[in-house]
Amino acid sequence: MTATLIDGKAIAAKVRAEVAEGVERLVAERGIRPGLAAVLVGDNPASHTYVRMKRKACAEVGIESFGFELPATASQHEVESLVRDLNARDDVHGILVQLPLPAGLDEEAVLSAVGLNKDVDGFHPMNMGRLAQKGREPLFVPATPAGCIRLLEETGVKLSGANAVVLGRSNIVGMPVALLLVRQDATVTICHSRTKNLPDVVRSADVLIAAVGRAQMVKGDWIKPGAVVIDVGTNRVDDPSAKSGSRLVGDVDFDQAVGVAGAITPVPGGVGPMTIAMLLQNTLRAAQNSA
Ligand code: NDP
Repeated sequence: MTATLIDGKAIAAKVRAEVAEGVERLVAERGIRPGLAAVLVGDNPASHTYVRMKRKACAEVGIESFGFELPATASQHEVESLVRDLNARDDVHGILVQLPLPAGLDEEAVLSAVGLNKDVDGFHPMNMGRLAQKGREPLFVPATPAGCIRLLEETGVKLSGANAVVLGRSNIVGMPVALLLVRQDATVTICHSRTKNLPDVVRSADVLIAAVGRAQMVKGDWIKPGAVVIDVGTNRVDDPSAKSGSRLVGDVDFDQAVGVAGAITPVPGGVGPMTIAMLLQNTLRAAQNSA
């Protein structure tokens, strides 16, 4: 069997086009242009790159973006004051605080300072709590997990009653994606570094979400024939044949899995492009809600 490729680039382009259309309508009908404020503390080069990519993506769909940089030495009070100032601004509909924050800052307190209606990253403890509660609706869902669900929807995967296995239990990917799958009536198993007999657990999955951060850990014979595989992992490995000397691979051994799975996301070009697209969608929604 050769798995169908789930084309994250194409699906993300579709989401971005939907957002661009929504932005245009909001500007035309209500005179509101969505605005996203990106708060960057310290000088982590990867964080700078992510913020730059997010701001560029905003510009492409007509969302205004505002960048705020604080030094790594910024105090808790300074970071929270900036967030509170942004909560009060009418031209800022969404606030993203780029994580990780430098050591010494209380991440939970900073995320809690973001106004619930501007929490476009979906990391506010209240939004996360609502995600976990039956009958409650979070205002926003974190972008990467939301992107995984959209990929499954676009692939036409029936989640109700499916056995889903999530590898990883982080706050930003594993746990929220597991909660979203439960909301879609899947039967969910969450695995982590202490899980026993991992290959056997993975073999029970009709739907597998891998968010571990270990290059090509999931082997082809771990996968149930015909399963749908969403690979969130982005791991850089040496590759002397590549110009840069390295390349990106997922948490799944793609070359093996593609012969067993029914459908699979590539890395790169799977979940990655969805993350920014879903952030843009959340920002548009925040602006629509403000109207
Ligand atoms: P974290 O490091 O926060 O979490 C990793 C999770 O994997 C933990 O729950 C950990 O278990 C579990 N884990 C680690 N080793 C093993 C193992 N050997 N067996 C089973 N479980 C294990 O990572 P993130 O959730 O932030 O990210 C996961 C991956 O997704 C990374 O590669 C990251 O780069 C990528 N990513 C990609 C994004 C995208 O847009 N494409 C966005 C965000 C992340 P325990 O809890 O026990 O420690």
